[in-house]
Amino acid sequence: MTIDSAPDDGFWFDIDIDHDDISANAVSVIRHLQNHNFDALLVGGAIRDLLLGGKPKDFDVATDATPEQVRQLFKNSRIVGRRFKIVHVLFGREVIEVTTFRDSHDKKEGDQKNRKQASQTSRQSSKGLLLRDNVYGDLESDAFRRDFSVNALYYDPLCKQVLDFMGGLDDLEKQRLSIIGNADARYAEDPVRLLRAVRFEQKLGFTLDKNSLDCLDSHAYLLKEIPPARLFDEVVKLLAHGRALATLQALSKYKLLRYLVPAAAYAMEDETSFSHSFIKQVCINTDERIAAGKRITPAFLFAAFLWPALLHQKKKLIDFENRHPYDAQMIAARQAIETQNTYTAIPRRFQGAIEEIWSLQYRLQKMEEKKSHAVMAHPRFRAAYDFVLMREQAGENLNGCGAFWTEQQKDFVPPERSPREYGGHDNRNDYSPRRNRRPRRR
Ligand code: ATP
Ligand code: MG
Repeated sequence: MTIDSAPDDGFWFDIDIDHDDISANAVSVIRHLQNHNFDALLVGGAIRDLLLGGKPKDFDVATDATPEQVRQLFKNSRIVGRRFKIVHVLFGREVIEVTTFRDSHDKKEGDQKNRKQASQTSRQSSKGLLLRDNVYGDLESDAFRRDFSVNALYYDPLCKQVLDFMGGLDDLEKQRLSIIGNADARYAEDPVRLLRAVRFEQKLGFTLDKNSLDCLDSHAYLLKEIPPARLFDEVVKLLAHGRALATLQALSKYKLLRYLVPAAAYAMEDETSFSHSFIKQVCINTDERIAAGKRITPAFLFAAFLWPALLHQKKKLIDFENRHPYDAQMIAARQAIETQNTYTAIPRRFQGAIEEIWSLQYRLQKMEEKKSHAVMAHPRFRAAYDFVLMREQAGENLNGCGAFWTEQQKDFVPPERSPREYGGHDNRNDYSPRRNRRPRRR
């Protein structure tokens, strides 16, 4: 199908989308591709969010040009990804993600030549998990490969029309989240879609279709097959869209949390525990920060999720191995992080920040006036202090530790530092999706 001939086929809709909210760089990528006789459209979450009146956080382009062809057309681009080859076109800090129309990995069965080509470009595990998926297709097959109908809307900003093969517009209007195709197979081939289902359900306030709801339970165990690094990114996305508390509660209800952060899963299940109120408090605080336009850091969230497990382990080390409290805390901290890394691989820079937030708890609780300036000059002090306040809000008795440090800060002027040096709840470890960062030169 070519875009020129498409307006007659009944899938195109004239919809007024405000171009002020569309990235000029994304439009220029599309124009450049179309000028070279390729099909190119905006696709995915950006269209969904624009139609819902929101501001998209990133823009994805779908095209019939292969990654290599796209790479050749844009000097400022690079090919990334193994599972799906995609091209990043870079405009300073903005990254436009360009994907080639995909086809179903098993659609071409029966055709000997294509089957051979497909086996080289697409692989599936014995459980149905898609390991590699670079079978290129056309616009319609591309729509079918996407996860939810509301994520399978395309927009051509040059002819100002929306393309909807999957009933996404109707679902948007009725606030429904419907998986495309056979739910069992779609969740099995990529169990991360389970997490995406929960994220969009919570973020958009949409109703998840019945088949997906059934799969949440039956397919959850497949998350064990997903690389921990990918799960880390997904967990951060789940908590950083503005409704962390509701999302964590949903993940707990759907029994998915135990495959992501088991320590938090236990805590969420026991509503009377300190761990439960602490994690809840941290999520409320995260949502408030996001609503106020402040930055959040995964280090703070993971420090909180793992804190109850650390305390438990620390007590065991003191009681049964006679460890000094400081040593016990250091050992327990490492163990907590290493266990969590087998579920979600926490990047090293965040691991360091988590350990600093924890070790500062020890120093803050000492409340030594003489050393207070040195403690407050620590780049991670602010995060550690917030952590103390939340522990107290959750009901822990820290003998007025929060009030002590609030008082100490009154006349304290923090040392001049470059923004990069600040930690935790300041600048250094803020989370912005990786794709928006300037890539490191090889
Ligand atoms: P947001 O950017 O707001 O998190 P999004 O829908 O744009 O949401 P992305 O991860 O940016 O999500 O993906 C862009 C599009 O790629 C999606 O809208 C969807 O069409 C498709 N997509 C992403 N991940 C998957 C997946 N696991 N399975 C199928 N399609 C996917
Ligand atoms: Mg997106």
